[in-house]
Amino acid sequence: MFGGWLYGSYNTKGKFRCLKCLKNGTANNDATWSSAYTTILCRAYYGPDTDENGQAWIGGWIQVKIFAQQCLNCAEYVTGELDDQKCQNFVNWLHRWIAHMFYGYPFRRLGYQGKQSDRHHLVNRCESCEQGWCHYRGK
Ligand SMILES: [Zn+2]
Ligand SMILES: [Zn+2]
Repeated sequence: MFGGWLYGSYNTKGKFRCLKCLKNGTANNDATWSSAYTTILCRAYYGPDTDENGQAWIGGWIQVKIFAQQCLNCAEYVTGELDDQKCQNFVNWLHRWIAHMFYGYPFRRLGYQGKQSDRHHLVNRCESCEQGWCHYRGK
């Protein structure tokens, strides 16, 4: 487990608001959208440490990235936002994921993975599709 980052991706439904378009007075409907393929990528680095008293601590580092989608109107990349409930679900998943990755707690279900097909998903506007982390698997 040493010496590398471990990756996990979480799929949820998020909202996107293009601030550039909203600032330019574009109608709300054209400048905001939601996507069932909002992808959050987490990576964990396992780096246990020993403190000055010789006490061993198990843990490491976690980094999180929410993938962007491209605005249909102006082509700006916009980062997804989660509402309170979706955010809580994600944090819950993240806790379990860390417990699994660092401390070996069993973790069978890796969270909601999306419907795997959605004709509304615009693959060429999705940063996580581009980078291969999106849970969308085509029609
Ligand atoms: Zn825009
Ligand atoms: Zn995608």
